[in-house]
Amino acid sequence: MAAGSAIQIPTRLPLLLTHESVLLPGSTMRTSVDSPRNMQLVRSRLLKGTSLRSTIIGVIPNTSDPTSDCDDLPNLHRIGTAALAVQVVGSNWPKPHYTLLVTGLCRFQILQLLKEKPYPVAEVQQLDRLEPFTNGHKSEEELGELSEQFYKYAIQLVEMLDMSVPAVAKLRRLLDNLPREALPDILTSIIRTSNQEKLQILDAVRLEERFKMTIPLLVRQIEGLKLLQKTRKSKQDDDKRVVAIRPNRRITHGSITEDEEEEEDHDDVVMLEKKIRTSSMSEQALKVCLKEIKRLKKMPQSMPEYALTRNYLELMVELPWNKSTKDRLEIRAARIVLDNDHYAMEKLKKRVLEYLAVRQLKNNLKGPILCFVGPPGVGKTSVGRSIAKTLGREFHRIALGGVCDQSDIRGHRRTYVGSMPGRIINGLKTVGVNNPVFLLDEVDKLAKSLQGDPAAALLEVLDPEQNHSFTDHYLNVAFDLSQVLFIATANTTATIPPALLDRMEVIQVPGYTQEEKIEIAHRHLIPKQLELHGLTPQQIQIPQVTTLGIITRYTREAGVRALDRKLGAICRAVAVKVAEGQHKEAKPDRAEVGEGEDCKEHITEDAKPDSISDTADLALPPEMPILIDFHALKDILGPPMYDMEVSERLNQPGVAIGLAWTPLGGEIMFVEASRMDGEGQLTLTGQLGDVMKESAHLAISWLRSNAKRYQLTNASGSFDLLDNTDIHLHFPAGAVTKDGPSAGVTIVTCLASLFSGRLVCSDVAMTGEITLRGLVLPVGGIKDKVLAAHRAGLKRIIIPQRNEKDLEEIAAHVRQDLTFVLAACLDEVLNAAFDGGFAVKARREHFNSKL
Ligand code: ADP
Repeated sequence: MAAGSAIQIPTRLPLLLTHESVLLPGSTMRTSVDSPRNMQLVRSRLLKGTSLRSTIIGVIPNTSDPTSDCDDLPNLHRIGTAALAVQVVGSNWPKPHYTLLVTGLCRFQILQLLKEKPYPVAEVQQLDRLEPFTNGHKSEEELGELSEQFYKYAIQLVEMLDMSVPAVAKLRRLLDNLPREALPDILTSIIRTSNQEKLQILDAVRLEERFKMTIPLLVRQIEGLKLLQKTRKSKQDDDKRVVAIRPNRRITHGSITEDEEEEEDHDDVVMLEKKIRTSSMSEQALKVCLKEIKRLKKMPQSMPEYALTRNYLELMVELPWNKSTKDRLEIRAARIVLDNDHYAMEKLKKRVLEYLAVRQLKNNLKGPILCFVGPPGVGKTSVGRSIAKTLGREFHRIALGGVCDQSDIRGHRRTYVGSMPGRIINGLKTVGVNNPVFLLDEVDKLAKSLQGDPAAALLEVLDPEQNHSFTDHYLNVAFDLSQVLFIATANTTATIPPALLDRMEVIQVPGYTQEEKIEIAHRHLIPKQLELHGLTPQQIQIPQVTTLGIITRYTREAGVRALDRKLGAICRAVAVKVAEGQHKEAKPDRAEVGEGEDCKEHITEDAKPDSISDTADLALPPEMPILIDFHALKDILGPPMYDMEVSERLNQPGVAIGLAWTPLGGEIMFVEASRMDGEGQLTLTGQLGDVMKESAHLAISWLRSNAKRYQLTNASGSFDLLDNTDIHLHFPAGAVTKDGPSAGVTIVTCLASLFSGRLVCSDVAMTGEITLRGLVLPVGGIKDKVLAAHRAGLKRIIIPQRNEKDLEEIAAHVRQDLTFVLAACLDEVLNAAFDGGFAVKARREHFNSKL
């Protein structure tokens, strides 16, 4: 069939084996090449060849290249397409491969395989005429009718497409210009056909056969298109009908007959409109809502904005614009509620009562916002809850810890997808009244980020001058927050933004003493835990000594949260025993209670703690109440977590106990020092802040300058303490960042101990800032620090003299247990810290000489 005058392809062609797609003459295909022989072909033929001939390859369909070049070639498909490689792109990801762009030229038939490696080459025979491209070509006479028919279908198909698309217009022009015999191949590759069908067309070498096989494919495509257009049209009609119905309904809205009304009740939008009209929202809000509902009616339901607008309107309707609870404020009752709910916290309760009393006298108080500041677990949140209870108001807690986006407070604008109101408006929706108590928890943990400063947004919420017209971005209309009672809580004021702090009245809630904790446990925590676990006081008895044991050996905290948890653990363990006991009671056989049921839990009603280990009782089943003693405690909670480690750690020179303040309350802090040969360097470890590092340098300088006075020497006996000596100071709990000036006196004492070789008294703790001249300056957090020292069982506390006034805040019984040393200078500190004082040699000599 190859004609002499036409273009001839080479008689020897390298073969590219493909199996995923079929390339037809006249079409273009992109194929990925990653098998060994095909890669070799690309590398040595396409990438190295320089002539046009070298870019002509034979593409064999339906044949996959073996994954290894050692494998034999499979049977090759007999007919292939000679193709021009137009583009080669190489890549190493995810494995080395080339992407080839090839354009089909004509069919060929393999006559003989000449070689298989490194890539197959075959002697081929061209099967199609490959004419130079001319417009005036006429198809062969005998095919006239078939090709005419084919042409007609092709035109029909193209005209069904959108002519405004440039590619379609171009295809339409090509239909007229291309030789008719090229059309079957080209159209087959354009229309939707399977690989199998394409392969059949490729194998149809005779033109007549090819036309015959392609016509049904064309007809199938035309039918498919017709069906598609029909369904599209009916859907458009539906849409039009929906839009048409809505305006009609609106027109008749003014005069609704009873039947219509019934029908409209089912229509959510109309219901919504009714709700809007009957709700008590502000005039401005009503205007906005009516405008939105008008828009909603015109919107097709499928529009994303439809749901957005609906949600918005539903929220507007739900908000408590005018709904409030009635305050029932009676100060005497409030005092009783507060006293009943909370033990101790006298200062806090007093201030809260004052606040409430003023509210009673003058409604609508534009007073400052109360902010309770103190360590975790001291009852800040629960006081907030009690305030709501005394006022008879709804309570809602808004946790602000970690909030770093101002839209968390003020909402997102409705233009965002997934936009929603801020937490304030959300809270109002939840409580359903406009005068709840909002507890803004952890205001000190607000963070800043690229999304704005939430603290700035809170300012507007908390400012009584502004909050009557608080505008949430989502609502976009003002909402009156002036009836809401805001209370804030924080662990420290240090991280509350100053502008926010300015709007609040800070009430410090310090940690509890051991005695207070015992009372809180017995009055509040234990009854609460019993109730939670379904136990009664007849079933479990926790004596005060046990509670003290839990407080001192299993918890180390300023508040009572861990204590509460431990009590919960005890109740759980007892619940098991009680349940087992009930089971046993059901069985009369008492003997089955064995040795395992030892002295730890138990015994008779009148049993005393000491009688617990009475072996005579061992054989008895657990009788009520189960008494929790130290054995039981150890069994349930495990070995004590905190021992009185203080004396153990102070058994060598170079250790002193300081007192630190943290947002979690006061803590005792060991300072350790060691010296070694070196070049006078000071190493500080334990994650110290700049101020603390400076304190360490100050302490060293002061000691160096006073070394002679105190007869302090380094290892080689020199008064220059850093001569050939390195000093390392460590502040344990290395993972916790520490800062502040109050460790100054502790560092001096610790170093004095190191260089004098004397032990610091094991029952003394200290705090105070130092100066270069050896003065001791006052520091903050004395109450928390003293409580921490008391918790740790220390007896003597050295504090700056000017902090004496702070001691008044400390409960009398704590003060009784402790001895306070008020120090104005470092001499006094050192004298108090070492048994028998710290002698000042030079001065004594001086006095001696005077005498
Ligand atoms: P905070 O908000 O300060 O972290 P919470 O208010 O959550 O602490 O208190 C933790 C638990 O301790 C609560 O169950 C609370 O009832 C209890 N609690 C704390 N202080 C007292 C107290 N003085 N009297 C009674 N219960 C208290």
